[in-house]
Amino acid sequence: MHEYDVIVVGAGGAGLRSAIAAQEAGADVAMVTKLHPVRSHTGAAEGGINAALRDGDDWEMHAYDTMKGSDYLADAPAVEALTQESPEEVIQLEHWGMAFSRDDDGRVSQRPFGGLSFPRTTYAGAETGHHLLHTLYEQVVKRGIEVFDEWYVLNLATTDDADPGERSCHGVVAYETATGEVEAFRARDGVILATGGLGQVYDHTTNAVANTGDGVAMAYRAGVPVEDMEMIQFHPTTLPSTGVLISEGVRGEGGILYNDDGERFLFERGYANNDGELASRDVVSRAELTEVNEGRGIEDEYVHLDMRHLGEERIVDRLENILHLAEDFEGVDGLEEPMPVKPGQHYAMGGIETDEFGQTCVDGLYAVGECACASVHGANRLGGNALPELIVFGKRAGRHVAGEDLGDPQVTAGWTPDAEAASVDTPVSLGEPWATRGDAVADGGATADTATATTVVERTLERERERVERLRDRDEGTQHADIRAAVQRTMTENVNVFREESALKEALVDIHAARERYRDVYVADPSSTYNTELIQTIETRNLLDIAEMITVGALARDEFRGAHWRKEHQERKDDEWLKHTMVSWSDGSPEIWYKPAVLRGEAKTYEPKERSY
Ligand SMILES: Cc1cc2nc3c(=O)[nH]c(=O)nc-3n(C[C@H](O)[C@H](O)[C@H](O)COP(=O)(O)OP(=O)(O)OC[C@H]3O[C@@H](n4cnc5c(N)ncnc54)[C@H](O)[C@@H]3O)c2cc1C
Repeated sequence: MHEYDVIVVGAGGAGLRSAIAAQEAGADVAMVTKLHPVRSHTGAAEGGINAALRDGDDWEMHAYDTMKGSDYLADAPAVEALTQESPEEVIQLEHWGMAFSRDDDGRVSQRPFGGLSFPRTTYAGAETGHHLLHTLYEQVVKRGIEVFDEWYVLNLATTDDADPGERSCHGVVAYETATGEVEAFRARDGVILATGGLGQVYDHTTNAVANTGDGVAMAYRAGVPVEDMEMIQFHPTTLPSTGVLISEGVRGEGGILYNDDGERFLFERGYANNDGELASRDVVSRAELTEVNEGRGIEDEYVHLDMRHLGEERIVDRLENILHLAEDFEGVDGLEEPMPVKPGQHYAMGGIETDEFGQTCVDGLYAVGECACASVHGANRLGGNALPELIVFGKRAGRHVAGEDLGDPQVTAGWTPDAEAASVDTPVSLGEPWATRGDAVADGGATADTATATTVVERTLERERERVERLRDRDEGTQHADIRAAVQRTMTENVNVFREESALKEALVDIHAARERYRDVYVADPSSTYNTELIQTIETRNLLDIAEMITVGALARDEFRGAHWRKEHQERKDDEWLKHTMVSWSDGSPEIWYKPAVLRGEAKTYEPKERSY
């Protein structure tokens, strides 16, 4: 058994930043990651990082924009932490050598982004994430932090006390891709989940194939509540054939969207009379799909994004990567032609519920980055606000798990006295049928009784070894790819930008059917080395839970807020819905409950206003 003070699961921006912080605070840290760190999806981030750095801008303006962008579902204390601390974190990156783009006077450049009242997005060309990831990885290497790469974490080693708030986490169990060995990693102080996004639950997404929501699903099955999972961001400018992202930086630099009639529809059709293309992402995505649905789309599918008027010099200087993406994936020369774009799944605003230090309600278990919900994005994330979240909350969680006193959190994780129980009418029973739990579809939580931390880890190891063996031993059944494709199809058809009750219910029926089929899942490849089919089969198990969490939350929230549009409920219902959707895994079934959004910040309350751009 490997043993460290802190185990960080995932080595994207959030994982790397938290590992650095924990190590600086004196902890002995190891990172366990299914990809090599620099292959993490943070490397795909293009447009930039928001931070109030210049005269005329300040953290209060950034906080105001973020609360408005969230449609008043973010928690103000977390938003204020993000906006107060992102400038020093960006400066820290600069000091570590990150190659930011610069103005002629030598200052780090900033560009406008959607929903921002000041051009506060710092960037490194259109490859910001690549530079961020490499800068952080260099620091990890320099510090000698141990990295177990190509190790797939199967499960968390947690106790199984009846009340999740009484549980504790003591490590993880992981599968080594190269050898097929299953090993335990005990964490003396804590585990930080930094496993990134879940876009593979949709079939048109900007997310990589590795973004399968593993951390969210593992934490959920270990009893940690997940928050606001229905809030999925659909980015307005993805390439139609692949889902590859065309950065908001293109519109930030002045790129224009046209429909098939050559109209600049965001202005001409009144979707966003002030900000046009730089309205918030949810607004632009709905506008594009409305154009397509009303017959003004191109080839009934997409609209055009034109940057030709910016001129070759500016495009090559600031957006060169976009030229390559359009050429390579769509065969379009962005200097000569407009690029085809349509909305695609991009980001999960919700995730594992945490406080402002990344702590979950399970003692010793933290979550940061896209898998977590510290609640800084609410119902809609502003472009450029995810990368600062990685570094601000990564650092906070790293310091906290290593024992630094950061004070008391203002937002409590777990059930609180002002939480309310709820229920939702579903067409099928949700969750795992009792009889299948503990089989190939294992639940979380090792049986603990009076166990010591080490025996909790050992028991989890035993169970996970059995699970892998069972999957390898079966020689017939259903292959996971069919199940995954069915889930992706129903999510894309029924739980997309526009949502209606009957479609959401249909999705739940399909997910239920997919779950039933998973009971017979088998892995055709019997090998122990590089058995990626085995790993993908386990990822598909996680996607089933993710799909269900998103859909049940979407069905329950009968209002229109941010990215969550409901056909039958066309208004934002502040009297009823200024609250977070929470889903907890209870004995195999998801339980839904609510807790109030915290709109009171350090010095003021962010009163909900009409959100127009
Ligand atoms: C194309 C694209 C462009 C974007 N551009 C921007 C932008 O310009 N600005 C902005 O603010 N945001 C942007 N975003 C959002 C932002 O980049 C992501 O939210 C963020 O990078 C996620 O970082 P992360 O560290 O949480 O996860 P990731 O970088 O995805 O890292 C996840 C890590 O977890 C590991 N992992 C996952 N599951 C397991 C497991 N079971 N076992 C072991 N390891 C595991 C992986 O190996 C990986 O190392 C963009 C997103 C996309 C998709």
